[in-house]
Amino acid sequence: MSKRDVTGRCLCGAVSLRARTDARIAHECHCSQCRRQSGHVWAYVTLPRADVVFDGPVSRHAHTDAAERGFCPTCGSFLFWAKNGEDAIDVSAGSLDAPTGLTLGAPSQWDSRGDYY
Ligand SMILES: [Zn+2]
Ligand SMILES: [Zn+2]
Repeated sequence: MSKRDVTGRCLCGAVSLRARTDARIAHECHCSQCRRQSGHVWAYVTLPRADVVFDGPVSRHAHTDAAERGFCPTCGSFLFWAKNGEDAIDVSAGSLDAPTGLTLGAPSQWDSRGDYY
């Protein structure tokens, strides 16, 4: 599948991102950590870490020692989740500019979804 350029940014625009990718599927994570950080469900697309470039200040938070989360220090937008030592990074689908070229796939961590469903 051919690669395309995607761009995105946080809410305030202090952080922008670009990537070249052939990814077509976004997922939504229902785990309790993503729920707390995003406010409900976090939608993301998994990309090769080397293919993603962030411009601007990115704050990082390691909630566990297995992964870190990135967000804008100004507006708080949740930008990525990355497992330590892996070549992939999960980028917030909602941060991407349309057309994203993505389609929402199967949910992950559905059994951990909020009890308000
Ligand atoms: Zn921002
Ligand atoms: Zn999650």
